[in-house]
Amino acid sequence: MSTDESAPPTNFIHEIIEEHNRTGRFDGRVQTRFPPEPNGYLHIGHAKSICLNFGTAKKFGGRCNLRFDDTNPTKEETEYVNSIMEDVRWLGFEWDGLHYASDYFEQLYQWAELLIQKGLAYVDSSTLEEMRGQRGTVSEAGAASPFRDRPAEESLDLFRRMRAGEFPDGAHVLRAKIDMAHPNFLMRDPVLYRIRHAHHHRTGDAWCLYPMYDFAHGYSDSIERVTHSICTLEFENHRPLYDWLIDSVEIYHPQQIEFARLNLTYTVMSKRKLLELVQGGIVSGWDDPRMPTIAGIRRRGYTPEAMRAFCDEIGVTRFNGLTNLVVLENAVRNDLNKRAPRFLAVLKPLKVVLTNYPEDLVEHLDAVNNPEDPAAGSRQVPFSRELYIERDDFMENPPKQFFRLSPGREVRLRYGYLMTCQEAVKDASGEIVELRCTYDPETRGGNAPDGRKVKSTIHWVSASEAVTAEVRLYDHLFSVENVAEIPEDQDWKTFLNPNSLVTVADAKLEPALAALQPGDRCQFERLGYFCVDKDSAAGQPVFNRTVTLKDEWAKIQKKGG
Ligand code: ATP
Ligand code: MG
Repeated sequence: MSTDESAPPTNFIHEIIEEHNRTGRFDGRVQTRFPPEPNGYLHIGHAKSICLNFGTAKKFGGRCNLRFDDTNPTKEETEYVNSIMEDVRWLGFEWDGLHYASDYFEQLYQWAELLIQKGLAYVDSSTLEEMRGQRGTVSEAGAASPFRDRPAEESLDLFRRMRAGEFPDGAHVLRAKIDMAHPNFLMRDPVLYRIRHAHHHRTGDAWCLYPMYDFAHGYSDSIERVTHSICTLEFENHRPLYDWLIDSVEIYHPQQIEFARLNLTYTVMSKRKLLELVQGGIVSGWDDPRMPTIAGIRRRGYTPEAMRAFCDEIGVTRFNGLTNLVVLENAVRNDLNKRAPRFLAVLKPLKVVLTNYPEDLVEHLDAVNNPEDPAAGSRQVPFSRELYIERDDFMENPPKQFFRLSPGREVRLRYGYLMTCQEAVKDASGEIVELRCTYDPETRGGNAPDGRKVKSTIHWVSASEAVTAEVRLYDHLFSVENVAEIPEDQDWKTFLNPNSLVTVADAKLEPALAALQPGDRCQFERLGYFCVDKDSAAGQPVFNRTVTLKDEWAKIQKKGG
């Protein structure tokens, strides 16, 4: 294998398709599908599957469907259907066909009857506990149910009456008749249908009999003439059943291919756990910017371009691993670096008074909007006698490595002048409340005519023109790197990071930032990439920090060696 890091990551699924195209297995056709169950919002793991399914179809000039796998009536809702469509489109994809497994209920039922007629399925009237007791172990075959050899006519009659609603939940199930000694447990007469008197988000009360996932999935693929049914590795041992069901009714046969699911450090990718965070009020909703949901990262300021670049970069393999969150963060940094306009903003304001600057003067300094994009032009930033600087950019007794502002030291104000700190004013408690500084009028633009150098440039905002904003700083959702390693007997919610959200109530922004609209993205110079949150109100902007500027990971790696 190549070790060249610039080579595109290999995609073994594309290699399989190329082989199929060579042999003519699907007549050169490529049809994929993205099949979410509408029981929650999509997360970043789903984004990998979306990019893979839609991206593969696109690469081979094929088609990709969006199919809702809605066979479990009690957990599914229209809200989820709508959010899934919004998220797929936001990622930049459009489906060729829009389908619902529930649209196939009648056809699926007919195939179930066919299996019964062929002697390949039977109605089992055992209780759940009885069936569990018959499963056997790895070394021992399972026991045949007493109903296994029930005549086909009797099973058919019962199955029709199950559909008609004559029995309560759990009274009977339909099982495939395969092999109770099969080494793969899923082949030991799996359940195909169960009775469930529940309202379905689309079919309403038309059915009280619902197919199991394995039964519905492959048949739905076949109906849609899917060529490559791409799914995650945990379905590998379902593949024999997938193939058995399709072959048993002699219909068109897609190829199931498994790949490794995406797992990220410091977060979870399970709809069940994410739902628990939402329902428990631990986060503000599915679109809380700390959530690994697509809705969450969108609100946080991530771009679809960054998400697609991330999915390309991680590639597609058959090895389950843990991807470092910094890979995702770098993807959005790289993208926003190219196009986010720069602004000045101060998160922890410290007042500066320029004692030698005229009382009523306001100058307008030219500031570059984006050094990476000359076409972005420049803007005017007001400058006056009273400024805010970042509290962390001043130290009264600086250590050797601190080159920013301190008493007697000169620094550059970004786009402005050189400034020297003369005095730190303290309140009764000893806290620094104001700096009294002088500026050098000869240094407008940042350079001294005598060529003297300063070691540091800091950002600032003119106090009288500043816009006050709320800024939400996000950090990892969990305090442990690998959430999957939390022992089963411990509550995973106790490993949440208590500082995953820090709210700054009175950040000071340059006035141009007031014009940004919810969803707009920008860079606060020296601080990171931010976007306007939907919670903003007129005159009361709220910003989310998308990601910090620096790649902390690179630093850690350098240090750790
Ligand atoms: P969860 O485990 O979070 O509930 P799921 O697999 O049950 O997810 P589905 O709605 O069935 O959710 O998933 C739709 C598609 O997305 C499936 O093909 C599934 O394999 C894929 N998918 C789900 N999670 C991941 C992941 N972490 N990485 C890659 N693909 C994923
Ligand atoms: Mg699933």
